Amino acid sequence: MAKAFIGFGGNIGDARQIIIDAIVCLAQHIEVHIINKSCFYQSAPVNAVGGDYINAVVEIDTELNPYGLLYVCQTIEQQFGRERPFANAPRTLDLDILFFEGIQQDHSDLTIPHPRITERSFVVLPLLEICPDFFLPEHGPLKAFLPQIANQRIKRLTCKNCDCGLQLH
Ligand code: ADP
Ligand code: MG
Repeated sequence: MAKAFIGFGGNIGDARQIIIDAIVCLAQHIEVHIINKSCFYQSAPVNAVGGDYINAVVEIDTELNPYGLLYVCQTIEQQFGRERPFANAPRTLDLDILFFEGIQQDHSDLTIPHPRITERSFVVLPLLEICPDFFLPEHGPLKAFLPQIANQRIKRLTCKNCDCGLQLH
């Protein structure tokens, strides 16, 4: 069993509902066990066109290997109508493997940890919310990168039906 973190994002349609439904799809895989989920965040596109994104990060335990998990993630993207007309195009749903316990590899089809974690507030904030002491191999504590992404527009959304977001400061 390995721990992994997956980043969810989307900016077409009801992105928040799409991510909720996608997390349910992910949880239906018997080899995937959801351990934690961040609040939802609304962020400005980074090096991309289109409207604001909705983002969240989920922590899982999994019996899958990294490529098995990538296949599951890409299948879910397809189920929600993901299209790739050009790089960084607006998308209904994007699932990125941010971290996979014990794996460090730099392959174009699967780079782990994800190479742009530290540059993106929409990854750093939700990841730190559920794992405040997250340590990124070869980079150090993730919280050290907060100052350099502080200029990116992002806000945490309050939850509609529970008070989990209120427990944070
Ligand atoms: P992006 O997320 O960079 O906007 P895509 O979602 O279209 O782009 O993914 C492009 C390719 O990136 C995928 O086909 C996948 O093989 C590759 N990739 C490399 N590393 C990862 C990773 N850690 N998580 C998800 N996809 C990855
Ligand atoms: Mg992706």
